[in-house]
Amino acid sequence: MDSLNSLAEQIKKCTNCALSEGRTKTVPGDGNPQADIMFIGEGPGKEEDKQGLPFVGSAGKFLDELLATINLERSDVFIGNVVKCRPPDNRDPLPEEIKTCFPYLQQQIELIKPKLIATLGRHAMYQFLPEDLRISQVHGRPFRRHGQVYLPLYHPAAALYHGSLRETIINDFKKIPLILKKI
Ligand code: URA
Repeated sequence: MDSLNSLAEQIKKCTNCALSEGRTKTVPGDGNPQADIMFIGEGPGKEEDKQGLPFVGSAGKFLDELLATINLERSDVFIGNVVKCRPPDNRDPLPEEIKTCFPYLQQQIELIKPKLIATLGRHAMYQFLPEDLRISQVHGRPFRRHGQVYLPLYHPAAALYHGSLRETIINDFKKIPLILKKI
């Protein structure tokens, strides 16, 4: 816990890339330091930047609902992002920004040692799984890579913009308890 907190303190002071110039608050991540499952999004949006907490905007509300469908709360899991500062106008983080920030996420993973890493959206998926995978084909399917199990999921925001994905994400979340049990 202490090391996770000191890592968060380090992130709060980080000026390693240009995203630090436009941020209000860093968003190091939040949740249970001993979580079995980590959810990884892409990067903070407007509301996250204001509050310093991950997934607290409209996508976050839906994420809370999704967690509730499998009897989980935020305090049971750890929620983080690939980049810890908000990209301007919510643009995708640049490869260089991701490369600079990624060691923080790797350290968080090493400290938490989750059984399962669920990636939210294709950008987070590509950090862990090969780039030729298509999220439309692999969502909801667990992958084991170097001893770590990953579950690519659609980004909850996608369901807000494409209503037809709502059921798909709900069904993919329903698979999580069994996947965890089997690990
Ligand atoms: N979208 C993300 O990818 N991360 C957040 O923290 C919020 C929205």
